[in-house]
Amino acid sequence: MRIGIVGELDKNGLSYQTYDSILKVKNLPLENNVLEIDLILLDAEEEDINALPCDSVFVYNQLTGENHIDKTVKAIEDYYLNNDPLLVVVSLDNNTDSIIPKAVIKINTDINHTKMITGFLECDHVLFEENINKVIVTKPVYGGNVMAHYSIEKSAIVSFKHNIKSKTKLELKNPKINFVECQSHFDNHHINSVDMEYIEEEGLEDSDFVVVCGKGVGSKKAVEEIATWAATVGAAIGGTKKVIDHGWLPIHHLIGQTGHTISPKTCLVIGASGATPFINGIIGSEKIIAINNDKNARIFDYADIGIVEDYKVITSGLITTFNELECK
Ligand SMILES: Cc1cc2nc3c(=O)[nH]c(=O)nc-3n(C[C@H](O)[C@H](O)[C@H](O)COP(=O)(O)OP(=O)(O)OC[C@H]3O[C@@H](n4cnc5c(N)ncnc54)[C@H](O)[C@@H]3O)c2cc1C
Repeated sequence: MRIGIVGELDKNGLSYQTYDSILKVKNLPLENNVLEIDLILLDAEEEDINALPCDSVFVYNQLTGENHIDKTVKAIEDYYLNNDPLLVVVSLDNNTDSIIPKAVIKINTDINHTKMITGFLECDHVLFEENINKVIVTKPVYGGNVMAHYSIEKSAIVSFKHNIKSKTKLELKNPKINFVECQSHFDNHHINSVDMEYIEEEGLEDSDFVVVCGKGVGSKKAVEEIATWAATVGAAIGGTKKVIDHGWLPIHHLIGQTGHTISPKTCLVIGASGATPFINGIIGSEKIIAINNDKNARIFDYADIGIVEDYKVITSGLITTFNELECK
């Protein structure tokens, strides 16, 4: 049974996040199974990695790509497809909220294989449940008031919330070192129109007002109009997975099980059906306002205020009212 930790080195050796992630999976009790921990690094010299608390190291020194996110996703994809791990843990200082959804989409939409993976951001811990013979990923929902437990059917890619710096010492080993050369098809393999742009974190999880666009918004232009309006009223903008898959918003705006869990005072959901993986990301909001033109949409089961209407009727009214107020 293998677990891959996408980590990084700093001047002291393993970064704090990477070290903590190894601690979090190291004692995962796996019935009759030996746990092997692999460390996945993007850039490393052999001399820096010959004594580490893991069994193998996979070094991706030669990846090409636009940016660090893009390269990390390629490394994860290559490692996942060739090594069949149960879990991949992303323990990087930056961009985890972009890397995980992007890697999930890339792996799940690649027609060259049939493997699938599920993603979970900011988990609390993982454990092995003997009764059902499955790994359970635990993640805070409802604004951190409740822990949700997800059983993993096949494999998952996760990140942890790292709270307190642990003083526990991990035993160093002489890991097997693999310098990996990715196959050329990775360079030609595109994610369906997903925006590769890198934008700084926009405080989705801290905002009091979040506007979330669903596929019902209809186009990238329409999402941009709503995002512009949202910015003017001080709201953060998020999207459902379908919106992200269409490339209408950059991937780090993804809300839901695979993306951000939000708990604002007000969450305005426009044109989203209310699928469970999405609901898991917004259910901690104090007030959910939903606009959907289908009166039977599941989102209304969770909304405090539901508006059955073509969203354009409502948002154009909101935008006009806001502009009028601004002019006064
Ligand atoms: C393992 C796994 C993980 C997943 N993780 C996530 C996740 O983290 N986040 C996530 O969002 N999804 C996730 N999904 C996908 C999820 O299951 C849904 O497919 C997705 O949330 C649906 O997005 P949507 O509501 O935008 O689109 P749809 O389901 O297509 O809904 C569009 C809605 O818009 C409405 N609509 C259409 N036109 C208008 C209009 N003019 N005005 C008003 N309403 C209109 C329609 O009535 C419909 O209800 C995951 C799926 C899996 C299998």
